[in-house]
Amino acid sequence: MARPLKLAVIGAGVAGLTTACELKSEGHQVVVYEKADQIGGMWVYNPEVETDPLGLDPGRKIVHSSLYHSLKTNLPRPLMRFWDYPFTVKNKDGVLMDFPGHEEVLQFLNNFAEDFGLVELIRLNTEVVRVEQENDDQWVVESRSNGGLISEEPFEAVVVCNGHNTQPRVAELPGINNWKGKQIHCHNYRVPEPFRDQVVVIIGGAASANDISLEIVEVAKEVHLSSRSQEIEVKKWDMYDNLWQHSKVTNCHENGEIAFEDGALVTADIILHCTGYKYNLPFLKTNGVITIDDDNRVGPLYKHVFPPQLAPRLSFVGIPRVAINFVMIDLQAKWVASVLSGKVSLPSEEDMSADLEQCYRLLEEKGIPKHHTHSLDLNMHEYLDWVAAQVGLPPVDKRQKEIFYKIREILPTSWIGFREMLLKQLPWISRIS
Ligand code: FAD
Repeated sequence: MARPLKLAVIGAGVAGLTTACELKSEGHQVVVYEKADQIGGMWVYNPEVETDPLGLDPGRKIVHSSLYHSLKTNLPRPLMRFWDYPFTVKNKDGVLMDFPGHEEVLQFLNNFAEDFGLVELIRLNTEVVRVEQENDDQWVVESRSNGGLISEEPFEAVVVCNGHNTQPRVAELPGINNWKGKQIHCHNYRVPEPFRDQVVVIIGGAASANDISLEIVEVAKEVHLSSRSQEIEVKKWDMYDNLWQHSKVTNCHENGEIAFEDGALVTADIILHCTGYKYNLPFLKTNGVITIDDDNRVGPLYKHVFPPQLAPRLSFVGIPRVAINFVMIDLQAKWVASVLSGKVSLPSEEDMSADLEQCYRLLEEKGIPKHHTHSLDLNMHEYLDWVAAQVGLPPVDKRQKEIFYKIREILPTSWIGFREMLLKQLPWISRIS
């Protein structure tokens, strides 16, 4: 191995912990910066919500986690493990759940940090406010501790693991500026009680929209889900008196009415945006080398990890979405560690840039919008196996892939009870780790 490096990791969520673990096992000196008072990132439930329920005010107090109180994983336990560290945490009744609650996931991450001696590497309550390259071999990390103390420290490389489920993306709805009701993004949803007796329109078609609608429907007067997906069937759900699925919103009227493409017109009290999140790298100063465009593409990033011009001294772990996240993140962490140790080489800057250009061109040719750049659902299989091969590992377990694609198959048609349906169709899930 090349000589050990002094490395900074930003964030102690899934990505930061797996990255720290891999870097440490390669013998590097690692400092993990974590702005929260504990590790776990997104998996630390916080009952507090932000002062701006839509998350648009840049001056608002930011709450990192988007967890709601009742959240259970939307991937089953065998997809919540790391590559060689299974998920074996039981719930408070001593049961190993097929879909663990968020408390068990947080416990899993704490166990991982303990088992691999990561705790002593982590500086809690320390927020990174600036990361900047000083010269070819040195980056400076400026941080602010809880007491407001600012300090600067040089590093030979930085791995960014700050997560991307905190900065809300809000749907642009025609006429919304004149609509007088309340609006909230699901980042600030915790419990259903504030929606009691309200008529609620929920925008979105992914896991959060679906889970939250089923919770709110128990207390709200009416719940109207709206999705722009062509696969959605417009209907009233039989098993509920007060739940409807609509197509996309075509107009929000000043009198409180909301019009849908399917012709329905609903007078609503609240719009709940379950429309995802934006990437956000407020601390990263690269003179425009790395940008996040309006359509949520972070780049340029070779294979979502290395910026060709700054690799390997700057890298990103955890950027892709819609994947077997924990395994994907773990593999990226292994790749970054192997590259920084000189065990694995990257292509030249020109070849990485050319590869990226080709990826962007392919997306355009297929008509895939830019905001899907980091969404792996179309090629997750190839991506994970490719990263695994970089570090000499075999392809990802076939059963993990089968589970993931079965979920993708079930979800668009039948998200009510998708967890039960998955277990019915693949009963062996409960028996594997
Ligand atoms: P995070 O967990 O967000 O961690 C980032 C860390 O960086 C945080 O601790 C944060 O405090 C810290 N940080 C940020 N900025 C700074 C800074 N400037 N200085 C210092 N520290 C900083 N995935 C699944 O696999 N299964 C699921 O069931 C699942 N359910 C989900 C449900 C919801 C509602 C959401 C929003 C996401 C879900 N995900 C799920 C995705 C999940 O977010 C990822 O799997 C994973 O936890 C992301 O880890 P991360 O480390 O990249 O980010």
